[in-house]
Amino acid sequence: MQDLYDLTLEEMKTYVTGLGEKPFRAGQVYRWLYQGVSDFGQMRNVPQALRARLEEEALIGSLTILKKQSASDGTRKYLFRLADGNTIESVFMRYSYGNSLCVSSQAGCRMGCRFCASQMKGLARNLTAGEILGQLKRAQADTGEKVDHIVVMGSGEPFDNYAELARFLTIVHEKEGLNLSRRNITVSTCGLVPGIERFGKEFPQVNLAISLHAPSDEIRQTMMPVNRRYPLAEVVAAAKKHAEMTGRRVTFEYALVNGVNDRDEDARALIRLLSGLLCHVNLIPLNKVEGTGFDTVSRARAYEFMELLTKGGIPATVRRELGAEIDAACGQLRLNG
Ligand code: SAH
Repeated sequence: MQDLYDLTLEEMKTYVTGLGEKPFRAGQVYRWLYQGVSDFGQMRNVPQALRARLEEEALIGSLTILKKQSASDGTRKYLFRLADGNTIESVFMRYSYGNSLCVSSQAGCRMGCRFCASQMKGLARNLTAGEILGQLKRAQADTGEKVDHIVVMGSGEPFDNYAELARFLTIVHEKEGLNLSRRNITVSTCGLVPGIERFGKEFPQVNLAISLHAPSDEIRQTMMPVNRRYPLAEVVAAAKKHAEMTGRRVTFEYALVNGVNDRDEDARALIRLLSGLLCHVNLIPLNKVEGTGFDTVSRARAYEFMELLTKGGIPATVRRELGAEIDAACGQLRLNG
């Protein structure tokens, strides 16, 4: 079965002409898809024969909602089943500036960050572009609300699945489709340098976030195995190049871990590391994950750390905590629910 969410408009043209139809039918089908119809019968201007054909061999998204949890702050966490039985999670959040959806890019993850729940069972598989997009379409249908911002910060490492991430970024931006502005999308990476470089060239308008979490190799190594492959200096150099090339501010995520990276000297080292770089540091008091041995800090300590950074000339904020009561916060999404 062909998941139609997997197709760019160009590919949809190839697909419908392959079924013996005129290319302009592709635009019609595409517009219906992204207006949110859930079955082919609703595609009124599409000929009956084509609708019947699509019914037989195509799908409008392949995800089903297995479970949904709502928090009092409006956050909703979805557990989706993929066609092959794997499961992934997405988180819908309400902010003053609109609705945001945190999507997964892989089922599981193989990056092995020690403080994160998503990597505990390793990588099951990459998601297709249609499965990434499907999370958005299903969340919109379920909430009845439009998603204005997408953050690719759910389970998985997006640059470990670059090809499908790139297709997803193309499909969401199609004029005949969702037509979502690239500036409303943020992709977060643990620091795969070749991915950062390619992404900057191919998608300069999409926001880049980098999970830094430490001001030195020594500390970062204890938290993130990926640091052995791409040490801090290379990651920061790639970020700097990215900011200069795109003119856009890079976000650094920094999960504060008690006694590991939250000391005053860590703030000072971070200031030295990032000074002169067009960036913003997003501080997140570590969300607790059982069995990792890492401990969180108080919000008060997070604000002190923020003060140190801002006084040192590095813009920083403490991330609002959403969805913790339903384990929907960063690093709490796991494979197999
Ligand atoms: N693989 C990508 C995107 C997914 S993780 C990346 O590493 O950026 C999204 C963010 O949540 C990352 O910054 C990640 O490091 C952070 N994170 C993971 N576990 C966390 C935890 N327990 N507490 C707070 N943040 C966490």
